[in-house]
Amino acid sequence: MKQMNVQIVTPDGIRYDHHATYVQCKTTVGEMGIFPGHSNLIAPLDIAEIKVRRIDDVNHVDWIAVNGGVMEVSNDLITIVSDAAERERDIDVSRAERAKMVAEQELQEAEETHSADQARRARVALQRAINRIHVSKH
Ligand code: ATP
Repeated sequence: MKQMNVQIVTPDGIRYDHHATYVQCKTTVGEMGIFPGHSNLIAPLDIAEIKVRRIDDVNHVDWIAVNGGVMEVSNDLITIVSDAAERERDIDVSRAERAKMVAEQELQEAEETHSADQARRARVALQRAINRIHVSKH
């Protein structure tokens, strides 16, 4: 069976390394589905989930939350480099809920004080937290 190797790397090391028959991710220009034999490319990723259909269990799908980053597809090797990546089972949901609350408060404060920089940072933090909560629910 045709397959790809999927590796997700963060500053903490290799966080994910499996063989897959299908990978779905969200690039900054939209959703992308990748099957074996896909042409080589490099694409920036959104803060979003990565879906991986593993070769060792066709009925099982892994979901991984990534904090943006870059994906390279090169001869059936998919390498994703991101600030942070967590599999659904590794997500601390109460931490993500707390991060969401803090980000919402910061966003409100930034809007009240017209601080564009603080608002931008708060929106990114909010997106990270919402992504983690979403992935944990799969
Ligand atoms: P927080 O405000 O809760 O620290 P954050 O978005 O600022 O969240 P990051 O800077 O993205 O956190 O990540 C720092 C480290 O903590 C990374 O190794 C990341 O994988 C881990 N991490 C962050 N939030 C969670 C979570 N809810 N569950 C599991 N690991 C997490």
